[in-house]
Amino acid sequence: MIQPVIAIHGGAGAMSRAAMTPEKEQEYLSALDGILAAGQAVLAAGGSALDAVTEAVRLLEDCPLFNAGHGAVFTSAATHELDASIMDGATLRSGAIAGVDCVRNPVLAARKVMEESKHVFFVGEGAEAFAREHGLDIVDPSYFSTEARREQLLRVQRETPEAAVLDHDGQALVANSQPAAAPAEPLDADKKLGTVGAVAVDAQGNLAAATSTGGITNKQVGRVGDAPLIGAGCYASNRTCAVSTTGTGEMFIRMVAAYDVAAQMEYAGTPLAEAARRVVEDKLPTIGGKGGLIAVDAQGNVTLPFNTEGMYRGYARVGEPPVASIYR
Ligand code: ASP
Repeated sequence: MIQPVIAIHGGAGAMSRAAMTPEKEQEYLSALDGILAAGQAVLAAGGSALDAVTEAVRLLEDCPLFNAGHGAVFTSAATHELDASIMDGATLRSGAIAGVDCVRNPVLAARKVMEESKHVFFVGEGAEAFAREHGLDIVDPSYFSTEARREQLLRVQRETPEAAVLDHDGQALVANSQPAAAPAEPLDADKKLGTVGAVAVDAQGNLAAATSTGGITNKQVGRVGDAPLIGAGCYASNRTCAVSTTGTGEMFIRMVAAYDVAAQMEYAGTPLAEAARRVVEDKLPTIGGKGGLIAVDAQGNVTLPFNTEGMYRGYARVGEPPVASIYR
């Protein structure tokens, strides 16, 4: 029997070590610990991997420290556009939504799409209508706004108006190609946070993954990153692994990053950690991709690679204390 395990991330890049105070670090680590413990409790009670990742991502969305749900970044028009996805490794069923600004917990909407729709992916007004019809919590868009995020937007617009900036490490993105010639320094040393995600394997050996984000600060209205794209920002199959990514979404889309890990395992028999390392360290950097991912396989192996200074991350095996970290 497999020892169930959950892993979570709160964004790659994290704030630079120089800007991190011991109090802030503690705040992040306890938020990660608490959320890991909640996901672990679901698994310990015999809950499914799907329920564990849903609960962990819901809590990450509600936590203002992370860029998803409450505390999401702003678009260039000072609005919010939230994206989320979920996938069940046992059946390959999946659900996703993008570009919503009134669904309190985007991951719950993604799960509803997976379970109660014949479709996989809803965007904008249609996604919001679907969420309303299915009784999800609807909030005013201002619910997602925090002062820290508004200041972050104003600062990007003042300093690098043409760049959309990756939330956590200030990486400037220009068009759909390489990062800007001179990538911006961390945009806001105090408030660079990230996308969130969770992956898990339960006692039955079922895998699941979920990802949720506000995207990147100052993104153009209508821009969608990798987070809600099955195969790019989220993937799960009991045959291989469950993966959730964070980073420069454009590059993760072009590399089909999450599925690449599973494909290496399935076609070449590559072990989980090596498959994930190749995507993060060898492949993404060739097109300027920055970020990381979390992954578990059907045997309960866990890997959390990233190519940035840090990544808010952790894992918790049932029966063992959660392990959370930020830097290398
Ligand atoms: N991958 C996310 C996106 O491109 C951003 C992030 O992970 O910070 O929307």
